[in-house]
Amino acid sequence: MPRLQDAFMTLTGHAPDGVWSAPGRVNLIGEHTDYNGGLALPIALPHRTRCAASPREDDLLRIHSLQDDSSVEVRIDDVAEGHPAGWTAYVAGVVWALRKDGNAVRGLDVVVDGQVPLGAGLSSSAALECAVAAAASDLFGLGLLDSSDGRRVLAAACQRAENDIAGAPTGGMDQAAAMHCTERHALRLDCLDGTTEQVPFDLTSHDVVLLVTDTRASHALADGQYGARRESCEQAAEILGVETLREVVGRPLDETLALLPDEVLRRRTRHVVTEIARVDEVVSSLREGDLAAVGRTFVASHESLRDDYEVSCTELDLVVDTAMAHGALGSRMTGGGFGGSAISLVPAADVDRVTAAIEDAFAAAHLTPPSSFPVTASAPAHRD
Ligand code: ADP
Ligand code: MG
Repeated sequence: MPRLQDAFMTLTGHAPDGVWSAPGRVNLIGEHTDYNGGLALPIALPHRTRCAASPREDDLLRIHSLQDDSSVEVRIDDVAEGHPAGWTAYVAGVVWALRKDGNAVRGLDVVVDGQVPLGAGLSSSAALECAVAAAASDLFGLGLLDSSDGRRVLAAACQRAENDIAGAPTGGMDQAAAMHCTERHALRLDCLDGTTEQVPFDLTSHDVVLLVTDTRASHALADGQYGARRESCEQAAEILGVETLREVVGRPLDETLALLPDEVLRRRTRHVVTEIARVDEVVSSLREGDLAAVGRTFVASHESLRDDYEVSCTELDLVVDTAMAHGALGSRMTGGGFGGSAISLVPAADVDRVTAAIEDAFAAAHLTPPSSFPVTASAPAHRD
């Protein structure tokens, strides 16, 4: 924290009015379902992005990050798609969206310090947006952190910052996780109506650890492929005569798939429909304390993402195969795919062995060394 306070002091000549933070997230299950009105089950990570901030009398946003040497100044009314460019779009976009909602927000001096690895599929972007949104809410007296409804408003503003200003066409799961996840719980998120439910997620009594492995891989394909998957889902929904693929969950799957004209659309749809069902399977297994069943569902999810949705890659498959071969109860890619991170449920006694086996497998395949770390379900955006 002193590092952040010092940097703020250097930028502005005074101490910040406060420091706010928001977590990264990892999704336990329910991948590529958010834009289909489906279900997801994220937890907040212990890794947080901190934002030191003070309000200004004028309309200027002065933004600096300890992860990036550049500083940017922009007037709120000048914020637009692609402006400012780069990472400051995530910050400026949040204030822009809050003003567009009719909130009386002014300029801010902002310095951020993030612990969430950037671009690792652990949602550093939402952590950044939500930390800034929390600061703006408190500093301008919006009171939006104090209730679930208020947090929903903040999450929506953060999503618009990402979609409309940063130009990343992502669903709302990441921002909802950063705003609504709580310690020792996973968040069952219904992306159709926005409702949330807290599901106990504390593995310590089971002597099991949730291990995140950042593969450090990011494939250039990712952006275009994400858009292509969304388009396939929209096309399938249109052919099936529904608003979102969520509506066909519960119908006989074979009959639904038979209505689709080609194999690719059938496979994409099968992933979405079965993945949404897997979320509630995991919720039930967690409530029953049956972690072996959770693990089996993780593997089924990974296979569906790899074979039907085709968003995995060599590195993610290698983590999953290696973890499973060395005693994990379950393992799967998490996030959008084509790189990023995988998660594994590992008996506590086997964590070092599994971690080493994954490192060895990457070395043998001449891949960039991955980074594995255990995580627990942590707290949402708040004032520090
Ligand atoms: P992810 O959200 O999975 O980490 P994204 O591509 O959505 O990946 O977001 C990563 C981007 O967010 C970074 O490239 C950068 O532009 C921005 N970002 C996130 N945290 C910070 C930070 N602390 N400082 C500067 N930029 C950040
Ligand atoms: Mg992101």
